[in-house]
Amino acid sequence: MSSASSDWQARAKALRPRSGMFVDGRFGAAASGATFDCISPIDGRVLAQVAAGDAADIDAAVASARAAFGRGDWSRATPKHRKQVLLRFAELLRANREELALTETLDMGKPISDSLAVDVPSTANCIQWYAEAIDKIYDEVAPTGPGALALVMREPLGVVGAIVPWNFPMIMAAWKLGPILAAGNSIVLKPSEKSPLTALRMAELAVEAGLPPGVFNVVPGFGHTAGKALALHMDVDGIGFTGSTATGKLIMGYAAQSNLKRVSLECGGKSPNIVMADYRDVERAARAAAYAIFFNQGEMCSAGSRLLVHESLKDAMLEQIAKVGRELAPGDPLDPATKLGAIVDAQQMQRVLGYIDAGREDGARLAFGGSQVRRDSGGNFVEPTVFDGVQRGMRIAREEIFGPVLATITFRDEEEALAIANDTSYGLAAAVWTRDLNTAHRMARAIRAGMVYVNCYDADDITVPFGGFRQSGIGRDKSLHAFDKFTELKTTWIELS
Ligand code: NAD
Repeated sequence: MSSASSDWQARAKALRPRSGMFVDGRFGAAASGATFDCISPIDGRVLAQVAAGDAADIDAAVASARAAFGRGDWSRATPKHRKQVLLRFAELLRANREELALTETLDMGKPISDSLAVDVPSTANCIQWYAEAIDKIYDEVAPTGPGALALVMREPLGVVGAIVPWNFPMIMAAWKLGPILAAGNSIVLKPSEKSPLTALRMAELAVEAGLPPGVFNVVPGFGHTAGKALALHMDVDGIGFTGSTATGKLIMGYAAQSNLKRVSLECGGKSPNIVMADYRDVERAARAAAYAIFFNQGEMCSAGSRLLVHESLKDAMLEQIAKVGRELAPGDPLDPATKLGAIVDAQQMQRVLGYIDAGREDGARLAFGGSQVRRDSGGNFVEPTVFDGVQRGMRIAREEIFGPVLATITFRDEEEALAIANDTSYGLAAAVWTRDLNTAHRMARAIRAGMVYVNCYDADDITVPFGGFRQSGIGRDKSLHAFDKFTELKTTWIELS
């Protein structure tokens, strides 16, 4: 074990994560007294016994959020004040970078180097970006003519529920928190039961930064209890959801059964990464293709999980991808040299291994990887895995695996590539690798996805919207467009005489 690794091990032992619900600016137990074990996917140890919130706790959190909204010390605060508080919040996230990164790694298994370099900085950057946006957004005066003055203004929704997944617990929460809080809403956040810890610490830091109690509440708990109660609640004005398409459909149903609350959904994907015959830098495309599916253990909604490669380049691409795959052998997430960590829990690991079996059963050829590794650790580790000879109808070509498993499909021409790319119920991301600008534009237009990358994969910036077509969701996270989900438009028409 390296000294850097043992240093993180020692800190991990000393860490005492927050584990209560955070309602009205205070930590407390669930009303029922129930808790659940928060288990680390790295070694199977129990990190904390976390309050298991249910409908009664959601009621209390929504009541606190509603009272805070009515009080107006956040909802009606000046944009300048909201900006200052959120900027302090971003700074506190940065000041607590190592603790937050360690907690994230222990809780969901990603490498500590990624938590430090990606998750905490992106989270702080997101909060800062929305903080800085607040006092630069103007409302509108409609061009009605001289007889009237019509103001079109944005107002906060009120109380917003946010339900988020476990793959990027802090970043997914921040993509909701940024626009929700900047717009003046109150929020009840339900983190995933698989990764509840950093959300609790984030809420505590937000209050330390000056956010009034009750504006940001966190109720950890299970989807079918706490999550469902939040989405069904009659006094919640909107739900910002990130998670699977199956759960997204339930959330829409809950809104319909209750108060027609606004629903925005960021759901799954099965994104095509298309390498055209004219793209000759195979090494570059292969490295990007490998990271597009193996980064974050493949637990990425926008993962390039379908490699569509021209038949003339397939062998060279797979050879290079295998080379990168060997560099990305799973290791101890607390070792700063590790690039691929643990799968979030045993259930998800079994799901991933089940899809690897399905690939074999359906007749695809296992070209690389395919096994569980590091069993002695007590954690959940799966090697980078590549299938060749995949057909469009196979399960590994159609279903979201959410693990480090790549399905390779060949094509002969652009028309066939586009037909395969769009042969999916999803539409989150896609990439095209080509040297021809015309091909790039033509294909980018023809692909039905919210984000199309050209000669790169997963390029990212808070300034651009993130979200999908079709069953990948409704609405967009990030950028100024995210305000559309968490504000209402109001027209005030003044007749002039
Ligand atoms: P999930 O749908 O199982 O859970 C997501 C959240 O919903 C969790 O907090 C869970 O507790 C809650 N939930 C579950 N059942 C619920 C119910 N009946 N009512 C209310 N809430 C409920 O998804 P997951 O396994 O946590 O995350 C993986 C999924 O998230 C993948 O499909 C992935 O593509 C998607 N995802 C999408 C994006 C995006 O921006 N489009 C980003 C990250 C992850």
